[in-house]
Amino acid sequence: MRIARFTTGDDPRYAIVEGDDLVVLTGDPLYTPVQPTGERVRLDRDDVRLLAPVIPRSKVVGVGRNYAAHAAEMGNEVPATPMIFLKPNTAVIGPDDPIVLPTWSEEVHVEAELAVVIGKVTRDVTPDRALERVFGYTVANDVTARDVQRAEQLWTRAKGFDGSCPLGPFIVPGLDVDDLRVTSRVNGTTLQDGRTSDLVHGVADLVAFVSEVFTLLPGDVILTGTPAGVGEVRHGDVVECEVEDIGVLRNPVIRRS
Ligand code: ZN
Repeated sequence: MRIARFTTGDDPRYAIVEGDDLVVLTGDPLYTPVQPTGERVRLDRDDVRLLAPVIPRSKVVGVGRNYAAHAAEMGNEVPATPMIFLKPNTAVIGPDDPIVLPTWSEEVHVEAELAVVIGKVTRDVTPDRALERVFGYTVANDVTARDVQRAEQLWTRAKGFDGSCPLGPFIVPGLDVDDLRVTSRVNGTTLQDGRTSDLVHGVADLVAFVSEVFTLLPGDVILTGTPAGVGEVRHGDVVECEVEDIGVLRNPVIRRS
């Protein structure tokens, strides 16, 4: 099952994707049991716009250096414990929304990542119970001002700016994420091509670890880290991040002058 959040110009609504159709739901499946309203909307209809499938209620938690090959390409060791950081929910944008390059960075990179959407209030969960707290999975682009990340001790500015967390296009509940292909492309040219089987810390361990730090709320999102091959984007580029069995998250890149 794939869950979409979309608008036809009015308030956002939720739907299950069936083929080329959106089967509209009565509410937000993250919070309430929902039923189809009976309305079906064609995905390719001109007025249909997919939105970020979730707006995190309180936080996006990122994980640094969680693929050994990516840590190595940045000249870093893999940390013994997950190295986590926060992106504010104001960083979230949806499919096809422009990534606006910040005026204060000259080198912005894309990072394709599997993203975990939390479904239940979660605190101090053990790894063996952690997946019960997950609502589903989506695709993230952990957009990073790499020059600023190198220059500053804290990653808040480099990874937390407006538009630095595209999410989408869908949420897929119940997916087996142990070995999914994670790729990114810029203008059709592949940058990253990895597999979640290479995660240093897997999804269950990450949810458990993070839940010992913060209470996780329904709609919070954990980014699981990015595989090797990260690269720069510039004004006019189109970036696609893809996770197998979830979908392609596409965003244009612009610099406002
Ligand atoms: Zn990342």
